[in-house]
Amino acid sequence: MFLEINNLKKSFGTGESRVEVLKGIQFSVEKGEICVLLGPSGSGKSTLLNIIGGIDEADSGSIVIEGEKIEDMNEKTLTRYRRKHLGYVFQMYNLIPNLTVKENMEVGAYLSDHPLDINDLLKTLGLYDHRDKLPNQLSGGQQQRTSIGRAIIKNPSILLCDEPTGALDYHTSKEILKLIEDVNQKYGNTVIMVTHNDAIKNMADRVIRLRDGQIRKNYVNETKIAAGDLDW
Ligand code: ADP
Ligand code: MG
Repeated sequence: MFLEINNLKKSFGTGESRVEVLKGIQFSVEKGEICVLLGPSGSGKSTLLNIIGGIDEADSGSIVIEGEKIEDMNEKTLTRYRRKHLGYVFQMYNLIPNLTVKENMEVGAYLSDHPLDINDLLKTLGLYDHRDKLPNQLSGGQQQRTSIGRAIIKNPSILLCDEPTGALDYHTSKEILKLIEDVNQKYGNTVIMVTHNDAIKNMADRVIRLRDGQIRKNYVNETKIAAGDLDW
């Protein structure tokens, strides 16, 4: 398996206010898979993504990527893990306001030895004609495309997306999800995505449902999940 999540536990707070947010999360993801995390608000989806992303630390359990355990890595290898393997897309685009579309994407390329060709990527993202615009000259969907470009330009093996369409209307959300699928097919990045958008039914290879800090369902679909198959 490309990525293995083993018995992850995480609590916040101490004493009486201590809350166990992840209660032993266990699953694996194959290379190139689109894995979608579902679950009600507060069920620990972002916490799980942040632990996989090296932003937060689990209390116990392990993450193994291509045979390498994350918690065995020292600071230097952890930095390398983040740089080599991870791209992050959030609900808010967090673009740098005084840099153009192309420059915002170049920021993402800065830490990579082998970035993707930026003009090729701008075209894939439908941003080539907008490359010299500033973020405030763009629609929400175009800003999110730019943030996907910034995440993907270093060609990370894993693209983590935390509610990437949470701030977008229905139509634009579908476009963004389609784009993430296109990127996954073109560049082969494994995608782990939190979303509530039901356009997901057609593109997910795996759907994991969290509730109360545990995995309630783990669906796998070889031929993609047919609409209507999921019990939401
Ligand atoms: P989701 O993304 O599924 O909505 P989160 O992972 O953001 O859920 O949060 C899960 C639970 O953990 C929530 O009850 C939230 O309040 C709590 N939580 C998340 N981060 C922190 C933190 N840094 N400190 C304290 N509690 C937190
Ligand atoms: Mg969240």
